[in-house]
Amino acid sequence: MAFQAGETVFNYINGEWTPSVTGQTDPSLNPSDKSQIVGYIQRSSKEDLNRAIDAAQQAQLAWRKLSGAARGDLLYKAANALERRLDEIAETMTREMGKTFPEAKGETARGVAILRYYAGEGMRKVGDVIPSTDSEALMFTTRVPLGVVGVITPWNFPVAIPIWKIAPALVYGNTVLLKPASETAVTAAKVVECFHEAGLPAGVINMVTGKGSEIGQGIIDHKGINGITFTGSNETGKRIGMGALARGAKYQLEMGGKNPVIVAADADLDLAVEATISGGLRSTGQKCTATSRVIVQSAVYKPFKQKLLERVKQLKVGDGMDPSTWMGPCASESQQQTVLSYVEKGISEGATLLYGGKVPDGAGDGYFVEPAVFDNVKPDMAIAKEEIFGPVLALIKVETLEEAVRTANDTEFGLSASIFTRNIGSMLSFINDMEAGLVRVNAESAGVELQAPFGGMKQSSSHSREQGQAAIEFFTSIKTVFVKQ
Ligand code: NAP
Repeated sequence: MAFQAGETVFNYINGEWTPSVTGQTDPSLNPSDKSQIVGYIQRSSKEDLNRAIDAAQQAQLAWRKLSGAARGDLLYKAANALERRLDEIAETMTREMGKTFPEAKGETARGVAILRYYAGEGMRKVGDVIPSTDSEALMFTTRVPLGVVGVITPWNFPVAIPIWKIAPALVYGNTVLLKPASETAVTAAKVVECFHEAGLPAGVINMVTGKGSEIGQGIIDHKGINGITFTGSNETGKRIGMGALARGAKYQLEMGGKNPVIVAADADLDLAVEATISGGLRSTGQKCTATSRVIVQSAVYKPFKQKLLERVKQLKVGDGMDPSTWMGPCASESQQQTVLSYVEKGISEGATLLYGGKVPDGAGDGYFVEPAVFDNVKPDMAIAKEEIFGPVLALIKVETLEEAVRTANDTEFGLSASIFTRNIGSMLSFINDMEAGLVRVNAESAGVELQAPFGGMKQSSSHSREQGQAAIEFFTSIKTVFVKQ
């Protein structure tokens, strides 16, 4: 089955699309035009959740006993299903959270690639032989799945983030309970349909929609969930970390960012401008790795600012399905209000609003906002310290590169950071001194390859990295085996 626009998204439990016992739903609205209903999301209860966790537990033993290659084969089939439906799913994403259609297609294609990557992981080594001091013994490590993994995801990458958690969870032998963001549950359901089409055994993947405070909290508390992988806000992440720790469940948290770009005096300014715009404003700035602080050496501050402004003024804001749109709306009314309130805060704290930061003329029933560029930003202002998660660029002038890195590190976050310079010494000191999990040179702060570890330092992440071969650390436990003749 494939959901049609305006239908109710049921829960996916034990291989079947299942109505919630509550019978309650909330509409999922198109942020480009809130009069359009993309679908109805069930407000499920703990009873629905318990059924789904039971199904995941029942399916666990048979799934973990399959070979990695056989599990990988099903991921290949899911990748093919997603690829076949790429345009349809990307369009649903654009209609549900506002990202432009080309970006949504790119994200869906990334989902296909992630599935194929982890399908291959089913054939890779999972342990090491370790020499024993006993010459008659064989000692080695192997890895076992955690059991049932709870996957709690945000709305900003509604295809890629669920898949980069679900794919490694499954290939390493776990069964899954997905609780997608309420804002984008229609898109998530279409991803789950692809696993269904691939022929995954009943109960291996389950999805329950509903409020974070009800279903998300239920996952934190349920003893049948052996590990929780989460991406979202710091507030929710801390709650999950504390709850999981209290009952001995494994957890992995990917949270916020306040990512800096440093523009050195010797930078290629055109490159730095394009990367700042792309890294800061694509997806309407709603990426955890989005550029939000632009730290520029005084020698090039003026020309950089002028070039940046010229380019930002050209960006067309509109419905993500319109091919002429460069930047779509904020994903929800609350996101739009957050952005507008930070713009007000920036002005009241004494920064200069050079451009944007208001609802554009003709915004109609959409949650649009113009990209905002602030000048004269001081590092202690709220717009330089707090995650806005919207299209707001804060320009900060510094004298030296040391001051630039010190300013860049002056944050509780540590996800991603970039420098633009042609000097190898400047590159190396940035790489060494920058407190961030993703450090990039002459490249935008957003943008990570799926085969490389992903994650941050400080309050941006907690525990092992996602993506690539690093994912095995979270989704398995090591078993050390000693065999004596
Ligand atoms: P959020 O409010 O924390 O929500 C994330 C998920 O947690 C949603 O599924 C949400 O459900 C659920 N949730 C809410 N309250 C919960 C609770 N009490 N217990 C358990 N689960 C709960 O975050 P968001 O607004 O969707 O996403 C934006 C944030 O994600 C930003 O801070 C951004 O930086 C971060 N992010 C980080 C990364 C990364 O890789 N580091 C990537 C993308 C986004 P509902 O939708 O039903 O509320």
